[in-house]
Amino acid sequence: MLRWVDVLKFAKYSNPEPPRLIEKTEAEWQAELTPAQFRVLRQQHTEPPYRNAYCRSYEPGLYACVGCSSLLFDAHTKYHAISGWPSFTQPITKNAIKYAFDESNYMQRIEASCNVCGGHLGHVFPDGPAPSGIRYCINSESISWQRVMPF
Ligand SMILES: [Zn+2]
Repeated sequence: MLRWVDVLKFAKYSNPEPPRLIEKTEAEWQAELTPAQFRVLRQQHTEPPYRNAYCRSYEPGLYACVGCSSLLFDAHTKYHAISGWPSFTQPITKNAIKYAFDESNYMQRIEASCNVCGGHLGHVFPDGPAPSGIRYCINSESISWQRVMPF
């Protein structure tokens, strides 16, 4: 389980090795993504709180990156954070997310991006529930929910 100290270490020293890497030009991303997805994933924008697709959704399933389809979060780690954005306590795997210090907008935050395509997802904060104590605050525009079929 990742904790805040792990997130800080990843941001400060080096991120976990991604399972694969996808690199595209900004023009290619712009052609593939919707304008709203492009603004979040490639331009680090933040969508409006509450008026987004997954803020209030707690269906079981998995969330994948809309840029590259890599799995990022399991719905069982999603919780109601009253922030207005989908919130998770853990990534689906240790190397799903990459972390960086972000000092934009007069704030000191840790940015969370997809470790495969580099798409901006949101931020991580040290105010999540136990046992991890961390909160991944994620833009709905950057993720896509999928139901997991029972075998
Ligand atoms: Zn991705």
